Amino acid sequence: MEPEKEEASRMETPQPTSNTAPAPNLTPGPSTEPSSEPAPDLPEIDLNFWEYRLVNKDKLLEKDYEPPLTELEGGQYFDSRAVDALKDFIAAARSEGLTVILRSTYRAYGTQEYLFNRKLAEKQQSGLPYEEAYAAASRIVAVPGTSEHQLGLACDIVDGYYEYLNESLADTELLIWMRENCAEYGFIVRYPEDKQEITGIMFEPWHFRYVGREAAAYIMENGLCLEEFIDLYKNQ
Ligand SMILES: [Zn+2]
Repeated sequence: MEPEKEEASRMETPQPTSNTAPAPNLTPGPSTEPSSEPAPDLPEIDLNFWEYRLVNKDKLLEKDYEPPLTELEGGQYFDSRAVDALKDFIAAARSEGLTVILRSTYRAYGTQEYLFNRKLAEKQQSGLPYEEAYAAASRIVAVPGTSEHQLGLACDIVDGYYEYLNESLADTELLIWMRENCAEYGFIVRYPEDKQEITGIMFEPWHFRYVGREAAAYIMENGLCLEEFIDLYKNQ
């Protein structure tokens, strides 16, 4: 989840990108075309494994949860068990001539707490009583423990400097390519446009989550969100 600028992206018109950023490529992605590959069967996996861990408003991470971490470019960190997959994903995009910027990857509980409390204070200062301020803040910044970034398996990827992230980024050449190819590297679009009622999170075309190649292929082929995928195993 984008930690701090989301409110502006909702309340204002989309912000212009920097002068050097390419205009969004409005060519429809190949996702609208029928796939020649047969859809994979539901993978036989153990949902207790680390890569399937669900984090949302109902499934909180412990305050002291910290994955094994490996440093990435730009002084960022990612779960050591999935860092090679992320590096391969990024390298593949760059080999296509695309500009890839890792905007946010692992975020510690304390960092999330700082971001949330800052937003909460801002809302209270604007005159809202505590409960309303809390609710307003939680729509903008993930409540500590509910952010996938604390898992170390989520990354926000963009193609240039943006003051605010918004849905229009879904049409950039980079994110079209990444959406089409993420499953091959074990990543999914975690907060799809048509699943906002289930995820509780706005459409975030820049936010990718590692779940491994098997699960990613199934999720992306069938247009699911992670909550729906996990539910499929409960019904077995
Ligand atoms: Zn994110």
